[in-house]
Amino acid sequence: MDMSFSPEDLAFRDEVRTFIAENYPKDLKSRRTRGEMTKEEILTWHRILYKKGWVAPHWPVEYGGAGWSITQRYIWNEENARAETQPLLPFGLAMVGPVIFNYGNEAQKKRFLPGILSGDDWWCQGYSEPGAGSDLAGLKTRAVREGDHYIVNGHKIWTTLAQFADWMFCLVRTDPNAKAQEGISFLLIDMKTPGITVRPIITMDGAHEVNEVFLEDVKVPAENLIGEENKGWTYAKFLLGNERSGIAGVSRSKKAIERLKSIAAAELVDGAPLIKTDEFSRKVAELEIDLAALEVTELRTLAAESRGRGPGPEASILKIKGTEIQQRITELTLEAVGNYAFVQTPTGELSGNEFVAGPDYSHGSAQNYFNMRKTSIYGGSNEIQHNIIAKMVLGL
Ligand SMILES: Cc1cc2nc3c(=O)[nH]c(=O)nc-3n(C[C@H](O)[C@H](O)[C@H](O)COP(=O)(O)OP(=O)(O)OC[C@H]3O[C@@H](n4cnc5c(N)ncnc54)[C@H](O)[C@@H]3O)c2cc1C
Repeated sequence: MDMSFSPEDLAFRDEVRTFIAENYPKDLKSRRTRGEMTKEEILTWHRILYKKGWVAPHWPVEYGGAGWSITQRYIWNEENARAETQPLLPFGLAMVGPVIFNYGNEAQKKRFLPGILSGDDWWCQGYSEPGAGSDLAGLKTRAVREGDHYIVNGHKIWTTLAQFADWMFCLVRTDPNAKAQEGISFLLIDMKTPGITVRPIITMDGAHEVNEVFLEDVKVPAENLIGEENKGWTYAKFLLGNERSGIAGVSRSKKAIERLKSIAAAELVDGAPLIKTDEFSRKVAELEIDLAALEVTELRTLAAESRGRGPGPEASILKIKGTEIQQRITELTLEAVGNYAFVQTPTGELSGNEFVAGPDYSHGSAQNYFNMRKTSIYGGSNEIQHNIIAKMVLGL
């Protein structure tokens, strides 16, 4: 595998770097988790990239994507991490979009892809249910065909940012008598349809990022079925492969370790920088070694992808290692800043009489630590990913 950049790649890197420096809104940088942001704030960067034609680097040009090579996409991720831009939401661009252009019909492509690209349609993921998370194929939300519609009844849970969503891609059971995986279909549901109720779940970082979605006699046009009825599991798995490899976040972890090291250089223990202590520097070194190994694994996966192999079960390795590293970074940050971790990031201008205790870099570290516990659960828990590796990669 050739890991050096060509002169064209380097020119592309400079172009991307300049564009981000000149166009990324400075006031978005201090924002931490999406649960703290408004819908428009979350969409700001998306809309800027849409205007530039760069919002979907991995989509084919014929569907409005940038059509970039694997190397260009790698550079793009690196440069965004370097500039600490807000990651774009994955639900439309990385999840349902590729399902629609791979498995949808022409009318569906025409109807749904433009809204995903522009950001006008906000999508959420209706997979998990109470009792059907790891055992996703046990889902019970029922869709019954009546003429040219389905009538959908059920209860979805952990639906990220459904409070803002215009559409939900939803796994529903269309054949209760078939084997679990064989009776599932993939439906696109307009969130404004009567019978849909979204209720917030507040997570332990205090944010409203996830929800419950209740569906009562929701009438969904049959034309919103993707692919074939009862074949939804195939499309669902394709989507999960993309979701898992996207979670690894190598470039962003590199930047986060840089930040951790600068915090540990500023924090003192008995007058000496924390980063110079044996124990802390060993922990950071272990983290860096694990991240370097993960990066090579990711590059190997990307190289395989450039030869036409989509993300297979190896995506589970990226998911496990990537999320473990993300969590360890937040743990070490907490360890480095101590009590000041619990001081929240100020959201507005402070008046002359107010002050925020502790150094700026410590603010919000606890919220971030609590928020990142999710990463080993969502996209299929890490325990389940271990099972997938055992079966599909190691053949055990
Ligand atoms: C912040 C957040 C956002 C999410 N966003 C979405 C979303 O937008 N859309 C969506 O559909 N879902 C979403 N999810 C749901 C997520 O996919 C599920 O939480 C996940 O699949 C685990 O399912 P569960 O919560 O039902 O846990 P369970 O399946 O009940 O598992 C509980 C525990 O048992 C372990 N376990 C279960 N089965 C096995 C096994 N066979 N072997 C070993 N261990 C096992 C699990 O690893 C876990 O530790 C989100 C979750 C979180 C936390």
